[in-house]
Amino acid sequence: MKILVVGNGGREHALAWKLLQSPQVEQVFVAPGNGGTAIMEKCQNVPLAVDDFAGIGNFAQENSISLVVVGPEVPLALGITDALQSQNIPVFGPSKAGAQIEASKAWAKALMEEAGIPTAKSATFTDAEAAKAYVTQQGAPIVVKADGLAAGKGVIVAQTVEEAQTAITAIFKEGIGKSITQSPVPNPQSPIPNPQSPIPNPQSPVTVVIEECLIGEEASVLALTDGVTIRPLIPAQDHKRIGEGDTGPNTGGMGAYAPAPLVTPSLMERIEREVLERAIATLKKRQIDYRGVLYAGLMISPQSELKVLEFNCRFGDPETQAVLPLLETPLEELMLACVEQRLSEMPPIRWKSGACVCVVMSSAGYPGDYPKGKEITGISQAESTGAVVFHAGTKFDQTLVTDGGRVLGVTAVGENINSAKALAYTAVDKIQFAGAYYRRDIGDKAIA
Ligand code: ATP
Repeated sequence: MKILVVGNGGREHALAWKLLQSPQVEQVFVAPGNGGTAIMEKCQNVPLAVDDFAGIGNFAQENSISLVVVGPEVPLALGITDALQSQNIPVFGPSKAGAQIEASKAWAKALMEEAGIPTAKSATFTDAEAAKAYVTQQGAPIVVKADGLAAGKGVIVAQTVEEAQTAITAIFKEGIGKSITQSPVPNPQSPIPNPQSPIPNPQSPVTVVIEECLIGEEASVLALTDGVTIRPLIPAQDHKRIGEGDTGPNTGGMGAYAPAPLVTPSLMERIEREVLERAIATLKKRQIDYRGVLYAGLMISPQSELKVLEFNCRFGDPETQAVLPLLETPLEELMLACVEQRLSEMPPIRWKSGACVCVVMSSAGYPGDYPKGKEITGISQAESTGAVVFHAGTKFDQTLVTDGGRVLGVTAVGENINSAKALAYTAVDKIQFAGAYYRRDIGDKAIA
């Protein structure tokens, strides 16, 4: 079987890597892929942008692709699944209507309310002054969220009313998080537009969600679903801030580990019942076709109270890099069961024992501006330790060079979090590129 993975990050490298471990999978194509997917055996990059639905559809048909797996949220929100399904191409990823669960925070909050899913108290506004008046009335700390996809820049946890008001002003002035209906502008220098910069719809209003500030520890639970049945994967914990001890600005994620001991078996049962099953039942009630990953970002209070912070409509990055190395069931079997709506017939998902830690190495300056084109060395030495190095922002330009903010996800499996962490950092120490940055504390929360 041949599979096409859409995307170019560490998540897509991990998906391609895991899919290729199955004897049923003869080849994986990645559109557009990165430096890691370019050199992986039985894997080939295809120079197609993630929103080039016509190109992806033609490629899938011409190459007898059995399954298209969509990594990032932008093509899902733009309707890649609907476009490919209309050509009878099987796609793992929800429809455009289903992707709203991530693409609009106001939509997701309304769904949670309808479904009775525990979440922070909130109110939605399309008028800046009304939003500011609500903030004044509620007081701080308070959370301001731009409605649509904002690549991690749309959420401000404000410690003061003034900070929240400033955030509201900025969101309305700059139009942050407007709904997207159009593809990114092609860069004449590159055949592949930047999938992170879709054009907002000028007609759509700016919308903000103002939310109660929750206290606790965060966890990510990713679940596979065929729209009827839900099968959670092992829980993971991401490290969103750039600095050690969870300090500094938010990033796409500086590392992850799994399983997260914070999510005890009894908590997992509640997450399944009170969050995932309710969400799927409500999507179904709304006749929304949802076959793919439903990702719940959760806040667990010190009293083990659980609340949903957000839903995502795809695999998390870097959580996927920490979860998939522990998966024993062939991934394509699970994905096909989702697409063919027969997940309930699948035996329980099998997992390796132990734990997995993924440490992200990033370019100097990330999440702000950063240089590109720095030569990367030491990857084979790192992998000779038993670690797996998933590429994110890399490409080949004579040699392997940096090509993004998050460059590599250095990942290791161990008997427990301690040993997985030690193995991952041993591998990290073997890799060099100018300005390489990483956090030294990935996994520490689980160890504590
Ligand atoms: P973007 O839309 O910009 O891509 P995102 O989808 O990653 O952002 P969220 O996951 O909703 O946004 O929020 C980002 C982070 O903000 C969370 O991981 C959490 O740390 C913090 N956060 C969000 N909501 C709350 C809340 N109600 N209380 C406390 N912290 C919150």
